[in-house]
Amino acid sequence: MSTLDIKQVSKQFGDKQILNKLDLEVHEGEFVALLGPSGSGKSTIFHMIGGLFTPDEGSIYIDNKEITGKRGSISYMPQTPSLFPWRTILDNVLLSQEINGKPDKQKAIKMLERAGLIDYQHAFPHQLSGGMRQRVAFVRSLLSPQSFICLDEPFSALDELTRLDMQNWLLSIWEEERPSVLFVTHNIEEAIYLSDRIVVLGEQEKRIIHEQEVPFKRPRKESITLTEEFLASKKNIYKKLRRISHV
Ligand code: ADP
Ligand code: MG
Repeated sequence: MSTLDIKQVSKQFGDKQILNKLDLEVHEGEFVALLGPSGSGKSTIFHMIGGLFTPDEGSIYIDNKEITGKRGSISYMPQTPSLFPWRTILDNVLLSQEINGKPDKQKAIKMLERAGLIDYQHAFPHQLSGGMRQRVAFVRSLLSPQSFICLDEPFSALDELTRLDMQNWLLSIWEEERPSVLFVTHNIEEAIYLSDRIVVLGEQEKRIIHEQEVPFKRPRKESITLTEEFLASKKNIYKKLRRISHV
């Protein structure tokens, strides 16, 4: 089981209010996309879930257990994959398990196979492309003993085609294992294509101002992005983000 519950969380840096009484829930096995403009506090939310920052007020729960200000309750994949350059790919993906006691090498190898990285298990990070390093970082989060996964704009540095490949790869892996995921992005199409539910963070309100269910069944196919229904979802979110009443 793995759920997230953020209750009335506020955060200020200096005298600048970043979040104001934010509520946000992710249910068991749900893939939620958090959309918001750059600088609206998305990474700050992750840093608080991860316990790097403590909120000024409010509480955070994983699996109904309060973890406010505590580290180590989630598997976190940052914006740029932080692989250790001196460790091989296999040793990098085993790292989070090593820290927690019992590395499962067989499972790691199976996941690397699934990620198309098996030929690189003994290579070092600098020998891989950007997309491959992202896959390594993602495999590492899937292998970590914490089952709630937070992904912070994992594909934003990739070119459009690599991004599409990565989204499809992520979907195929996610659909097999169905971990609970909170996925941060500023890309509306990416949010619709990947998630079950989209929540929009309002820059002025500093909390969630809109949420909508994504109507597409799984497994998802790229062709849904060309449908009227996809465009309708996109328009609706665009209006909320841009604060306009019609497009
Ligand atoms: P996002 O991820 O949505 O782009 P961030 O959460 O990174 O936004 O940042 C939100 C705001 O908080 C920004 O104005 C940023 O400058 C500020 N901020 C983030 N971290 C810190 C910090 N450690 N100290 C001071 N200000 C910060
Ligand atoms: Mg960010």
